[in-house]
Amino acid sequence: MELVKGVHVIETYATTTLLVDDRLILVDTSADADAGKVVDYLNHIRVKPKDLSTIFITHTHPDHVGGLAAIKHGSPAKVAAHRIEAEFIARKRVYDGPSGPQNHPGTPVDVLLDDGQKVDGLEVIFTPGHTRGSISLFDASHSLLIAGDAARNESGLQPMDDRYNVDPKQHRESIKKLAKFHFENAVFGHGAPIKGGAGAKITDLAKHF
Ligand SMILES: [Zn+2]
Repeated sequence: MELVKGVHVIETYATTTLLVDDRLILVDTSADADAGKVVDYLNHIRVKPKDLSTIFITHTHPDHVGGLAAIKHGSPAKVAAHRIEAEFIARKRVYDGPSGPQNHPGTPVDVLLDDGQKVDGLEVIFTPGHTRGSISLFDASHSLLIAGDAARNESGLQPMDDRYNVDPKQHRESIKKLAKFHFENAVFGHGAPIKGGAGAKITDLAKHF
């Protein structure tokens, strides 16, 4: 579905976000090894994987990185992720956090991201705690936060289940960090996106920590 003009939210087990304006950007790639639902959606709106400029991966969990190799196959798109997460995405290191060792095909990360860096107009917000190298992305042009798994919105806005967080305290500090940004809309890795008033909701959540 199109949340606001140019911001497509593709719901699989975890959410994939597609930005279509003067850029063609994908954020996260679902759990499916063949990325079938994501590719179907791209076909539906006549976007070809080879036309994507950048594929951002918010973190290395299987439900976000699973379809990366399939989408990247035959596409010159750059893969961008936080430098801490890159070795896990490439499978150069064994992931030692929850939910255990990984089995996605390793894909090299082309752009190693740091906090505050801007790539394709997206500002990187380093939001560790869910994994060590988790990021969220801020897109001023759509007043949009792409949270990744820095928070979830399944039955209201909440932190992720601590069983899946490498550092629960740091995860909450990252939610406080998100509250400093000003945005109206937000997409989460899990749960419904928010159209309008999203920043205020994150600020309310952050007050609990
Ligand atoms: Zn996750």
